[in-house]
Amino acid sequence: MNFVDKIPISKTIEINILAKKLIEEGKDVINLTAGEPDFPTPNIIKEKAKEALENDFTNYTDSKGIPELRNAISRLLYKKNIHFLSNEILVTNGGKQALFNVFLSILDRGDEVILFSPFWVSYVPVILLTGAKPVILKTKFENSFLPDINELKKLITSRTKAILVNSPNNPTGVIYPEEIIIEISRIANENKIFVITDEVYDFLVYEDNFSSFAKYVDKNQLIYINSFSKSYSMTGWRIGFVALKNQLIYNRMIKIQGHSTTSVNSIAQYASTVIDKVDNSYMLKEFKKRRDFTVKKSKEIGLDFIYPKGAFYLFFKSPIKDDSLFCKTILEEKLIALIPGSAFNEKGFVRLSFTNSIEKLEEGFKRIKEFV
Ligand code: PMP
Repeated sequence: MNFVDKIPISKTIEINILAKKLIEEGKDVINLTAGEPDFPTPNIIKEKAKEALENDFTNYTDSKGIPELRNAISRLLYKKNIHFLSNEILVTNGGKQALFNVFLSILDRGDEVILFSPFWVSYVPVILLTGAKPVILKTKFENSFLPDINELKKLITSRTKAILVNSPNNPTGVIYPEEIIIEISRIANENKIFVITDEVYDFLVYEDNFSSFAKYVDKNQLIYINSFSKSYSMTGWRIGFVALKNQLIYNRMIKIQGHSTTSVNSIAQYASTVIDKVDNSYMLKEFKKRRDFTVKKSKEIGLDFIYPKGAFYLFFKSPIKDDSLFCKTILEEKLIALIPGSAFNEKGFVRLSFTNSIEKLEEGFKRIKEFV
């Protein structure tokens, strides 16, 4: 069997196909499935893209990414108190390619990667594609979807290569408290295991308590991933990056990138060189309003949910046991699209994205209330 045959098809696709079909039929669907902001990309970035075209900046670039962008990322990280030099940064096609590069560079067949469930849809498929084994630690609603450290210790074997973490979290909106980050980092450091930290939602933090794993993981074990998709409303530009001190892994990733995509789109890279000058605080302000509104409405309806401190998702208990059936039926009957928790390995839950305007959310909650 080919590795690809082992990969499940994305469960989010089913609901999206149905939503699109209804939209094509002219139905007024409220789509609360999107994992992307609804803002335009900031003007300063768009202007820079025009400049790239005017300057005919349209050739292949260095596989690592252009130095001006790696420097800008280094400056951006510095503001977050995360320190990487430009030659420790690799520009990728979004956070997704960053993950592919990392897993291909560190995993051999039979190696194990520990990850915490519920998790974002693409993690397991990427690990399986390398021939490695995902080792899943299930977290519980009752425990705020935080990993149990004793369980984590038990899962470490001689084949454990990495622990994959994602805070702020998709789909739960949970932010890992500093104590948990310190504990996980300590286990990884003691066992010489990589920590791959996916911090693509680090800008979307509504409570003042976000800590990065970058602060606690030994420098040779830390693999830091971020992207501009969510923080700068740039999902279509496909700019992400990996930052790491480990030169062996870095050089492997450059090779992979050279043989796969050669380099990231030159115009998108050039446009992103102003990234550390962008003021995106208005987006955070608006998302906080939407988060507060979503929480208020969910309480009014009586939904049982995890309080989202970060990202732009509300993860709530499905009013009926079968979350897939709930999402399918509410879409057909009330024209509101939501993602079943089983897409994230957590049956009995539903993910709602509050990436829509307050007006749309208001209408969405009206429909959920009627249905529930
Ligand atoms: N990590 C997480 C947790 C995500 O939710 C996403 C996008 N949904 C990504 C990585 C990848 O995003 P991108 O490739 O657009 O940077």
